[in-house]
Amino acid sequence: MSEKKLTIAEDVIRRSVEQFPTPFHLYDEKAIRDNARELIKAFSWNKGFKEYFAVKATPNPVIVKMLKDEGFGADCSSLPEMVLANRVGIKGEDIMFTSNDTPAEEFKKARELGAIINLDDIKHFDYLAKHAGLPDLICFRYNPGPLKEGNVIIGHPEEAKYGLTYDQLFEAYRMAKASGIKRFGLHTMVASNELNPSYFFETAELLFDLVIKIWKEVGITFEFVNLGGGIGIPYRPGEAPLSWKVLSVGIQEKYEQIIKANGHPDLKIFLESGRAITGPYGYLVARVLHIKDTYKKYAGLDASMHNLMRPAMYGAYHHITVIGKQHLPHNVMYDVTGSLCENNDKFAIDRLLPELEPGDIVVIHDTGAHGHAMGFNYNAKLRSAEILLRPDGSLVQIRRAETIDDYFATVSFEQANSFQ
Ligand SMILES: *Cc1c(COP(=O)(O)O)cnc(C)c1O
Repeated sequence: MSEKKLTIAEDVIRRSVEQFPTPFHLYDEKAIRDNARELIKAFSWNKGFKEYFAVKATPNPVIVKMLKDEGFGADCSSLPEMVLANRVGIKGEDIMFTSNDTPAEEFKKARELGAIINLDDIKHFDYLAKHAGLPDLICFRYNPGPLKEGNVIIGHPEEAKYGLTYDQLFEAYRMAKASGIKRFGLHTMVASNELNPSYFFETAELLFDLVIKIWKEVGITFEFVNLGGGIGIPYRPGEAPLSWKVLSVGIQEKYEQIIKANGHPDLKIFLESGRAITGPYGYLVARVLHIKDTYKKYAGLDASMHNLMRPAMYGAYHHITVIGKQHLPHNVMYDVTGSLCENNDKFAIDRLLPELEPGDIVVIHDTGAHGHAMGFNYNAKLRSAEILLRPDGSLVQIRRAETIDDYFATVSFEQANSFQ
């Protein structure tokens, strides 16, 4: 049961709850940096390889800066994410702007920053030209539709709102070429939290085949292929991580067989992984507030789904470790809940855990990506702090918790009090 280990030592977690009020997200800097280095090393065969960290996964400037220093760019889906990336020193084409249903001012910002623009629809080409002007490098997002199976988080590609169809892609690159654009990229993102490496080899094959086809039919060469994010992490005990090395070797094989064998010029491989970069190296640290016995046994925490939405939103599994009780029998079945007035505010349902008491420190695993980031204010819940464990063992607050004043910052009591 406890084969899923914490990357952060137990005494550090005890120290963290003495230093900071629970709940908070706790990230492990050394583990994130080591992981980033391993990824870059694994793809060193590909000249120009770049990982654009999906900012939405962990939009904390300290984390994004840390990854920049490791050589990553930033994959941004909105104007504030681009501003965040830019403010920590990620510049120009080290920013990839992958958006959908995009407002004009976001395209303008992307142009102003010199970001790579990845278009989600064929009509966005004219929209971009009209509102922000055309860049000299353009990328389109491909949606393979029924040619590729999806999964539960992202859905089936033909049901997904993202990207261009196969036929539209050819038309789009023809249009771009006719407008004088000289530099091209191709993107897709068809999986989410996928642990099977074959899935990514097939995606690479799909895109490499397309590169060759478009090259021959439209007469343009490509600078890069962006294989998207969606690389999974082992949330459940017993699941194996997808190693960067295995991923890289399989993609390289397809590259040799398709890109090299057909004589297309060198192509840069881009990834825009979020979850697999930071996910396993963050934890939601909380305490048991109440134990309740009714038709079921409930362990109520001082955290709620506004701190971590994945279990409620996707029925996602997040492993739970109870500090100091790891070695006790896990023989009591709990629903582990928060305090929201929503019955799906549960971190776990029917989970076997050691006997819990109020005050127990509960660590919820794998919250380093799509954890704090998906937080919200429903029920007037305030978002928690984010704490970073530095390699020297010190704990640094990299985002404070929200206050009631933050919550009220956008409303006007003056108006309410003068309202007739
Ligand atoms: C969400 C997203 C990512 C990152 O996904 P992960 O599952 O965190 O790897 C990358 N690219 C796009 C376009 C996305 O929407």
